[in-house]
Amino acid sequence: MCGFVGLIAHSEVAPMLFVGLQTLQHRGQDAAGIGTLGPDGRFHLHKEMGMVVQALPLEVIERMPGTAGIAHVRYPTAGVGIGDREDAQPFVTRRPGILAAHNGNVTNIPDLEASLRGAGLRILSNCDSEAILLVLAEELTALRGARHTTEDLVLAVDRLMRRVRGAYSVVAVLEIEDAPTLIAFRDPHGIRPAVYGKDSTGAWMVASESVALDVLGFEVEGHVPAGGLVILRPDQPAVVRRIRHDAAHHCVFERIYFARPDSRMEDGRVASVRWALGERLAEEWKRKGFEADVVVAVPDTSRDAAQAISEKLGIPNREGFIKNRYSGRTFIMPNQATRENALRLKLNPMREVFEGKRVILVDDSIVRGSTVRRLVDLVKSLAPKEVHVAIFSPPVAHPCFYGIDMPTRDELIAAKFAPEHLEERLATELGVRSVTFISAEGLAAVAGKRACMACFTGDYVVPVDSEERAFILKNRSAQGPRSTAMPRGVP
Ligand code: SF4
Repeated sequence: MCGFVGLIAHSEVAPMLFVGLQTLQHRGQDAAGIGTLGPDGRFHLHKEMGMVVQALPLEVIERMPGTAGIAHVRYPTAGVGIGDREDAQPFVTRRPGILAAHNGNVTNIPDLEASLRGAGLRILSNCDSEAILLVLAEELTALRGARHTTEDLVLAVDRLMRRVRGAYSVVAVLEIEDAPTLIAFRDPHGIRPAVYGKDSTGAWMVASESVALDVLGFEVEGHVPAGGLVILRPDQPAVVRRIRHDAAHHCVFERIYFARPDSRMEDGRVASVRWALGERLAEEWKRKGFEADVVVAVPDTSRDAAQAISEKLGIPNREGFIKNRYSGRTFIMPNQATRENALRLKLNPMREVFEGKRVILVDDSIVRGSTVRRLVDLVKSLAPKEVHVAIFSPPVAHPCFYGIDMPTRDELIAAKFAPEHLEERLATELGVRSVTFISAEGLAAVAGKRACMACFTGDYVVPVDSEERAFILKNRSAQGPRSTAMPRGVP
């Protein structure tokens, strides 16, 4: 998972890209990059490992010229391998000159690599953005060498969408009709998000999440359509072309877990989706006939759902954990004892909220089960009367091949128990009174039947064959060991 911003304006964009990118820090903490198209027609690029403020020093931002540019944050990996900095985005091509970044996961990289090689083009990094960029460059230069028109671009992106499979939201800067141009396009199912908007000066902006536009004073004009291309130049209306008309299947996990609650997606405010999931989960929990004294969210992603459960059931909602927003990575800690300390470093519980109470502990998801196990152990050490674990997503049962890095199937919690016994067996294993996952039907009732829910249901909207699966999973494991949990929500 990654995040991007793109800007085209009348003044230098690097400082605004730098600010906008910080609002998307939750989408990637591993590396950050920024690139602009300068007045001399040259691309200026800087990328480095680390968080935005570390990777993009102010002296670099201040010296980066250009009124069009893009910036990117990359999802964290443990075990930094050789060439990792080179895998950071954006990427550039010389012929034609294109600066591009993306969010998602291309599923047919082996095919693309072979076809690019046939055209004499080599992928130098381990990042699938480079493959997308090379395909775009190849398709554009096949039409003409330079001075590309809008229609060239539309045709090239159409051909790209026929060649590149998977999930990809792409932002790029290039010259079209001899003018600097900001573009964004999205795979035919619109799996990963992309939103665009304008400000009062005539500038345009594209971002993975609307919160980046909010912070910089841009009004959302629309979401880049699934299978669509948006072309932006200052003071000119947005050109929106719908190239492919497959049904949209937006990632439901963005709503549950990844996106900021204050971002707006096609189906509304992320916080509102989490609220609706909480209400639905409350109904499903209530049908089991339990009672409780307090609802406690695991911060931060679960707050809206916990509040909704509290209101729906008439049970008080209390902050039970204080989150340390400044703790670093803890997966380097060597043994079990220090890992428990690490959890407390991130989430310190307040005893009086739990002691002697029947507690509903609300969390967004269970992937492997290791995080919930440590959380429950922590809560049980505070002498609650009962613990009920309530999860506002179904059990994660299948890996994601569309850009969210999940463990292989046999590592997932759902692989440990038969579906019909999972809640009961997990409750026994955790030593709690109950475990309740929202049902797949409950999730579909809130998110709509067309949302991508493949990690819960196994119904992959873009088919991924066994060779492609093996390639993606091998690439992931080549990046080294991961934290036992994905990063927890919004900073
Ligand atoms: S498989 Fe899950 S995480 Fe991946 S895109 Fe679909 S809903 Fe999102």
